[in-house]
Amino acid sequence: MKKGIHPDYKEVEVICACGNVFTTKAVKADGQIKVEICKECHPFYTGVRKMIDTGGRVERFNKRYGRES
Ligand SMILES: [Zn+2]
Repeated sequence: MKKGIHPDYKEVEVICACGNVFTTKAVKADGQIKVEICKECHPFYTGVRKMIDTGGRVERFNKRYGRES
């Protein structure tokens, strides 16, 4: 059999800036990939700016309803 023609895919840990950690297959033997955005926090996938905009929305909510914590 032919060997060495396929890349050696390994499972690596991907760490997103939002805190989400997941694994993927990649040609990278040594461990971890860091990304700015992932499918959990990207607006394209979530439809809303969930992780990115949470702080701002809470602030506006509190302002509108006069809540002080
Ligand atoms: Zn993310």
